[in-house]
Amino acid sequence: MALFDKFNKLAQERTALIQAEPSPFGTRIDEIYTPTEGRIGQWRVVLAGTNNYLGLTFDAECIKAAQQALEHEGTGTTGSRMANGSYGSHMALEEELGDFFQRRSVIVFSTGYLANLGIIGTLAGPDDIVLLDADCHASIYDACRMGGAQVIRFRHNDAADLEKRMLRLGEKARDAIIIVEGIYSMMGDQAPLNEIVEIKRRLGGYLLVDEAHSVGVLGANGRGLAEELGVEDEVDVILGTFSKSLGAIGGFAASQHAEFDLLRYASRPYIFTASPSPSVIASVRTALRSLRTRPELRTQLWDNARQLHKGLSALGYRVSSRPSPVIPVMLGSPKEGVAFWEALIEQGVYVNLVLPPASPNGDALVRCSVSAAHTPKQIDQIIAAFATLRDVFSTAAQVS
Ligand code: PMP
Repeated sequence: MALFDKFNKLAQERTALIQAEPSPFGTRIDEIYTPTEGRIGQWRVVLAGTNNYLGLTFDAECIKAAQQALEHEGTGTTGSRMANGSYGSHMALEEELGDFFQRRSVIVFSTGYLANLGIIGTLAGPDDIVLLDADCHASIYDACRMGGAQVIRFRHNDAADLEKRMLRLGEKARDAIIIVEGIYSMMGDQAPLNEIVEIKRRLGGYLLVDEAHSVGVLGANGRGLAEELGVEDEVDVILGTFSKSLGAIGGFAASQHAEFDLLRYASRPYIFTASPSPSVIASVRTALRSLRTRPELRTQLWDNARQLHKGLSALGYRVSSRPSPVIPVMLGSPKEGVAFWEALIEQGVYVNLVLPPASPNGDALVRCSVSAAHTPKQIDQIIAAFATLRDVFSTAAQVS
């Protein structure tokens, strides 16, 4: 078999679904005008398929900070922090994140994916057991594979199933690592962290929470789900990213454990990749300040999320039960999903298409993500586009 033959099936599946541009996979966005508007081919669209929760990608202060860093520190670090050294701004960001999350140690990584690989893949070795929510992000699965830990999946958001599996472990449960997410990226639902913390108190274990989609979104100060539920003290490691509410790229891990910084010397995804560019660090530091000092962004985000959720529910679409900045709309077969996604672009709305197995129950879904930067009028535009498609796709969407 030739080297690339193994991809034939994948290629056939893709061409069977998509014959022309725009394609829902790796969509070409020709121009970006604002955090919420762009152009795809001939269509000017409202962007509702990003993770730009606080809308900070065009924030004037963030852009100015990044420009200044470009001028003063150059375009890139050209090396890893372990081999080539850290810039003062890397350390400053780690201190500022430590202050924000009230944790002794913070390690910054070049992406959120690498933060998960670098922390989970190093902490969870071949002698360790990881209890993983089945819907955890691919980076968490990859990290477990990299570290060689024994992985036990429990049913998504099912604390009773977690407990059952921990009880089966007996004494070993004391040292097991439990990993969940604050907000899950496909369905927008939240981990039952109170119940999980209660199980941890009884049976032991370490708790890692990936707050990639919940930092800046949940909690009185925007620290995520653990803050919202008042259980931060029970979280051993917070994982997160700069690529969503902080509007740039990079990732981090924060912990109160005294030995946490030792991971820098053992974590290959920290040691063997270049550190984030100074301009990225500068914009993230500024975005973090905005996250802290402008709670009105979070209020606006939730107002927008509620408006969209209410509008789509009223149209009879099958949406998530609770409003969230991530709102999935369940559709029919993958083919119908693709057609719906294309028709939405023609109506001036860009969302993300998710196909099985990434979507549950064999249904395609479109994932709408809301930003604080959406105006109420733009949210109405999104709802109006769904209203127009309602009758055309009534069977696929099973609208009432
Ligand atoms: N964790 C979760 C839960 C995510 O959803 C993502 C990205 N979608 C990541 C980690 C990876 O983050 P990044 O894109 O910054 O690498």
